[in-house]
Amino acid sequence: MMNKLLPEQIVIRPPVEAYSVLIAVTGGCSWNKCAFCGTYKSGVYGGIQEYAIRDIEDIKKNIDFYAEKNYHGYPVFLAGGNPTSAPTDFLVEIIKYVRQKLHNVPRVSCYAKALDILRKSDDELQQLADVGLDIAYMGLESGSSKVLRIMRKGTNAESMIKAGKRIMGAGIKLSLYVLLGLGGKQYSEEHMKGTARVLTEINPNIFRFRTVHVIPNTPLYEWVKKGEFQLLTPLENIKEERDIIANLGDNVTSEVYNDHVSNYVSIETENIQKDKERFITTLNELIDDPRIMAMPRKNLTIM
Ligand code: SF4
Repeated sequence: MMNKLLPEQIVIRPPVEAYSVLIAVTGGCSWNKCAFCGTYKSGVYGGIQEYAIRDIEDIKKNIDFYAEKNYHGYPVFLAGGNPTSAPTDFLVEIIKYVRQKLHNVPRVSCYAKALDILRKSDDELQQLADVGLDIAYMGLESGSSKVLRIMRKGTNAESMIKAGKRIMGAGIKLSLYVLLGLGGKQYSEEHMKGTARVLTEINPNIFRFRTVHVIPNTPLYEWVKKGEFQLLTPLENIKEERDIIANLGDNVTSEVYNDHVSNYVSIETENIQKDKERFITTLNELIDDPRIMAMPRKNLTIM
């Protein structure tokens, strides 16, 4: 029997929010089915966490606590796997309260799931933007509908495009995650081409690479064990990243980051349109480096 974590026990946040005020809004993930993800169900973070929307008065007490301790001037991350699954008026009240109690907050952000976004109207998204939701971090993972289906993401490429465009259309910045290696060896090309296409369609403000690792107690773990899914080597992951970048349309002006321990490179840019050649050249130099060719896989069991 695995330990059960309470919704207020924050399990993950983006690395870029490491110095932010973290306010738990939801616990767990309302979807919780992605084949590669063990965040809330595998126990790797010390237990499982069931999906729940926290009581608004408890959330406000947390915000009061940070206000009393003078945590002014810090970014605020509304934590939980997908806080956008909560009703819009509930989120509006929380963001308003954050902005009322904490001063000079440079940004308010949260994770967002495409399905939650599609359930909200344009007017609701606009309300979130108007009260000061600045960034939504959304897991695209892949732009290939086939890979998304195999990985049980519950969303296809067209829904991702729609959700991404609607977030940006409301004036909320969009940061997408791309999971290198998610198609394995079999669907690497499809994953690469589909992802480049979706990124080109959305032209998100930011996209960030992550690399697939096999988390125990997940379906992907079983598929790898049975030989049904072949992981890419570090070199193949870097090639996949290079090819995604090379296949982007010329319209894409996103910031691009490799800001995660799962990655094999750390290259970044504030504008991929201006920096595409340098990005590709740097990746090619790494691809030709014998040390990269011999690099072992990291085999992380936590993401
Ligand atoms: S990847 Fe995101 S949406 Fe999928 S199960 Fe994990 S937390 Fe939920």
